[in-house]
Amino acid sequence: MSKSSDIKMVDAPAGVQGEGFFATKLDEVVGLARANSLWPLPFATSCCGIEFMATMASHYDVARFGSERMSFSPRQADMLLVMGTIAKKMAPILRQVYEQMSEPRWVIAVGACASSGGVFDTYSVLQGIDKVIPVDVYVPGCPPRPEQILDGIMELQELVKSESVRRRSSPEYKELLASYNIS
Ligand code: SF4
Repeated sequence: MSKSSDIKMVDAPAGVQGEGFFATKLDEVVGLARANSLWPLPFATSCCGIEFMATMASHYDVARFGSERMSFSPRQADMLLVMGTIAKKMAPILRQVYEQMSEPRWVIAVGACASSGGVFDTYSVLQGIDKVIPVDVYVPGCPPRPEQILDGIMELQELVKSESVRRRSSPEYKELLASYNIS
């Protein structure tokens, strides 16, 4: 059982502080809230999914990052974790799941198969999920250990914290989606 002295609070964003007030930018507050409440959608097709199960369990405890609330409904998730070999036949399904997620949404490719096809350099396997959807963080390994998956989530938290609230309506973001034929 943790003592209250063990509990670490998230650092406040940069801002101006005085007696009885604290002022900061909206981007910083929204980023802080989003980064510490990412709701995962596990798209697990093979062995890497087992590592994620360990990441969720008590020893590694993904709840420490505010991400214990798994969602199997794309509309109630904002962090898509793709874990495992994605056959080309499955690629349209993965893309459909991504499209059903509302903005802002982020993607982590967990392990070698999701990132690059892994050892399955063959006609039937998608050679990386970034062929069909944009990816924010790649986690290497076959399989990656739970520590690496947590490291990937922490990397994503840093991206989310520093993302402008206007990014999703920017021409650059629209261009990125257009390059995937996603409107
Ligand atoms: S990267 Fe390795 S452990 Fe992960 S799904 Fe592929 S073969 Fe399995």
